[in-house]
Amino acid sequence: MTYPGGRLSEEKVFKDPVHSYIHVRDKIIWDLIGTPEFQRLRRIKQLGTTYLTFHGAEHSRFNHSLGVYEIMRRIVDDVFQGRPEWDDNERLICLCAALLHDIGHGPFSHSFEKVFHLDHEDYSRAIIVGDTEVNKILRKVGDEFPKHVAEVIGKTYHNKLVVSLISSQIDADRMDYLQRDAYYTGVSYGHFDMERILRVMRPREDQVVIKYSGMHAVEDYIMSRYQMYWQVYFHPVTRSAEVILTKILHRAKHLHEQYYAFKQHPVHFYSLFEEEMNVADYLKLDEPVMYFYFQAWQDEDDPILSDLCKRFVNRNLFQYVEYNPSKDLKKTIELPQLFKKAGIDPEYYLEVDSSSDLPYDFYRPGEEEERLPIHLLMANDDIRELSRQSEIVDAISGKRRTDHKLYFPLDIIEDTSSKKTIKKRIKELLFDT
Ligand code: CA
Repeated sequence: MTYPGGRLSEEKVFKDPVHSYIHVRDKIIWDLIGTPEFQRLRRIKQLGTTYLTFHGAEHSRFNHSLGVYEIMRRIVDDVFQGRPEWDDNERLICLCAALLHDIGHGPFSHSFEKVFHLDHEDYSRAIIVGDTEVNKILRKVGDEFPKHVAEVIGKTYHNKLVVSLISSQIDADRMDYLQRDAYYTGVSYGHFDMERILRVMRPREDQVVIKYSGMHAVEDYIMSRYQMYWQVYFHPVTRSAEVILTKILHRAKHLHEQYYAFKQHPVHFYSLFEEEMNVADYLKLDEPVMYFYFQAWQDEDDPILSDLCKRFVNRNLFQYVEYNPSKDLKKTIELPQLFKKAGIDPEYYLEVDSSSDLPYDFYRPGEEEERLPIHLLMANDDIRELSRQSEIVDAISGKRRTDHKLYFPLDIIEDTSSKKTIKKRIKELLFDT
């Protein structure tokens, strides 16, 4: 499989704080980076609302996507090339899929996908196979090439080794985001010896395996993943901002359905409110456009929309308490009623948010989600699943941790200029006093 223009006459490099340099040698990669659909990723933050907790976390999906591409390039060009188990015809598809794996992400995807019932993977596919600049470039390799790139990202491609390089428990995507998110948030977790892991990765039939000598580097990677989830990705303050964002989108959709006369009409949202798959509209809706609406909607007459937007723009977030859905029945039943009595709409001002993570798992037959385990290549050429060799990994294997929090606007509850007695009762219930 070749692309017209093949290799660039001179290598191009991007300076990158995580990988030092991103090397581009193929014309197709250079051309894909230049498309409007890929440039749009500069306007979508990798970590959504996390910058409201860790102010450094303003990095975009653009620089993460370049990072994933660079890790993939090193795997196929420096580690796999020339090995008998590796088919170098898969090289180009690996590079393109790595670069484009997040092409369908919308603004603040986490909240966005929840409210509009959509999945960025559908948009990735639509952007790659639809009428776009990305598609025009991919088609130059062959008519079927865009479809195959979409299949790799959608995990349905026939060569599972290729799929595992981009979506498994140790893949180019995770190895980039853990290091990149650690770098930009400034936390001390998230660092592991990727150089070592890359050196010991081997292609093996339908999966990538890790030479036994690299086991400790993999243990370190899994622990750093575990810590990043609880210290960064599930940070309760970030989730508070996400709750507010979700409520803004819900409220705007609700008002649109009620024919509310917006001062600033949500024109960019129309096809999403109608839940239509309109790729052209989707591509226009990036984070700067969303901020434009949040800014403008602070002046709407609807008090809920205006208040929620002021909160988001000025980072006046909801407070939270620990919540146990099976034990806190009294809170579940009484709080919404008390909120209503106090004139605070519980639909927008009271929310349970749950986060749950499984740091490592091996495949157990019958489970709803098949997880590709990490396999070690032993000195005698045997293959063993990681948790059977590593006591550290065994200790956390299959252990799901879930955390529930209840979010509410403490400032409104503490404002006792009205409904003093009810608000006092709300506070007692929330804080168990
Ligand atoms: Ca990604």
